[in-house]
Amino acid sequence: MKIDTHVHSNGISKCSRVTYQEIIDRKIAGGYGGAVLMNHCQHWYYEPENLDSWKEEFILEYERAYEYAKQKNFKLMFGIEVSVSAPRWADFLIFGVTKDFIRNSPDMCRISQKELFEYCEQFGALMVQAHPFRLRHEPMDCAYMHGIEINTQPTDLHNKNLVIKLAEEKGLFITVGTDYHDNTADNRSGMIVPDNIENSVDLAKYLNETTYTEVFIHDIVQKFDKNIIL
Ligand SMILES: [Zn+2]
Ligand SMILES: [Zn+2]
Repeated sequence: MKIDTHVHSNGISKCSRVTYQEIIDRKIAGGYGGAVLMNHCQHWYYEPENLDSWKEEFILEYERAYEYAKQKNFKLMFGIEVSVSAPRWADFLIFGVTKDFIRNSPDMCRISQKELFEYCEQFGALMVQAHPFRLRHEPMDCAYMHGIEINTQPTDLHNKNLVIKLAEEKGLFITVGTDYHDNTADNRSGMIVPDNIENSVDLAKYLNETTYTEVFIHDIVQKFDKNIIL
């Protein structure tokens, strides 16, 4: 099954220009069987006192999208992209997200990478740095993440070899996502995962246990060993 691990819908991600319906329809047309809805959690999205109501809005956007996807036999999985406060606004994709994960979470964008990592570990969720090496991001601490992303936005894809090198050095797994914010990100890239993955928890379990990840970038398939120096 082909999946895109990084898409944003405009019902909650302010920077996205596409609805979940458009994303799902485009992905189905592109031959994908699923996607992970990685809507943003950023400190300007809500004041700390409104955190609980924001969490419910966040969950609602996923629930609506999930229902739409389900009718079309498309597996829409639940994720969140958190911009942590330290290192300043480094972005982390979280796999293995559930409604309980969101509801029980601390104010995720106002804590550090290490604190977010500790919360993820409690839940068996996995943290993957999104588009590392994107300008303005400080280097992240590889001890507090599980994986690292090859982001296929034209502005990030040139960092691919740096990502592969860092993953090899630090024993991280590699994910691939388009960072879908509009249809210009429709570049036939993502991951190939077992067909029996139904949701984000299954996906996290698979990423945790697999010895390699299989990806495709502009339709070219590649495999990356995990925890092994290639
Ligand atoms: Zn965005
Ligand atoms: Zn993103």
